[in-house]
Amino acid sequence: MCGIIGYYGNKDAIPILINGLKRLEYRGYDSAGIAVANGGGIDILKKSGKVKELEAVVEDSPLKGSVGMAHTRWATHGEPNDLNAHPHMDETGTIALIHNGIIENYHSLREVLQKEGVTFKSDTDTEVLVQLIASFYRRDKLSFEQAVRAALHKVIGTFGIVALCSEEPDVMVAARHGSPLVLGLGDGEYFLASDASPIIEHTRNVIYL
Ligand code: GLU
Repeated sequence: MCGIIGYYGNKDAIPILINGLKRLEYRGYDSAGIAVANGGGIDILKKSGKVKELEAVVEDSPLKGSVGMAHTRWATHGEPNDLNAHPHMDETGTIALIHNGIIENYHSLREVLQKEGVTFKSDTDTEVLVQLIASFYRRDKLSFEQAVRAALHKVIGTFGIVALCSEEPDVMVAARHGSPLVLGLGDGEYFLASDASPIIEHTRNVIYL
């Protein structure tokens, strides 16, 4: 279980997210990644190795936005490489997810989704969850939030998650079960993190979910 930081507001999200990841480094991790909503889609950059390696990639990119999320991964399912790093996306590139914890029934869920024709890019339990959310979102025409709820009802295991959907750019969804998640309330802005350490420099108004 490793680090999560999310930002929803009107400032440049990138330095907030990268600095947040640096505050979470003390927990140990093997890879890092970031997703930012760009108005019409979601841009993702991810890299095995240290946060400063991700930071170098981000500095060379046109990543821009004021809603986003970032993750440090401690691999439990799938080796630590760029592909298995979070955020993960569904196969249509609409929904992005970061996740701390373990989806214990990922294998059977993956088989069901593969029978429905879903193709997987990574070896992670986390990708199964984002593809499941997308399946509820597309097949059952649920709202993004409802699709996340429906998927989490099917999951056995532990999770702290933050998710974004390019078709509902005003929404950021978070949930937890067995993995910690903290909400920070700023002035017209919201922070989410796996512990308070990346939030307290922005706001003291912190709620343990
Ligand atoms: N089980 C997930 C993975 O292996 C999440 C690991 C974590 O909590 O960092 O990607």
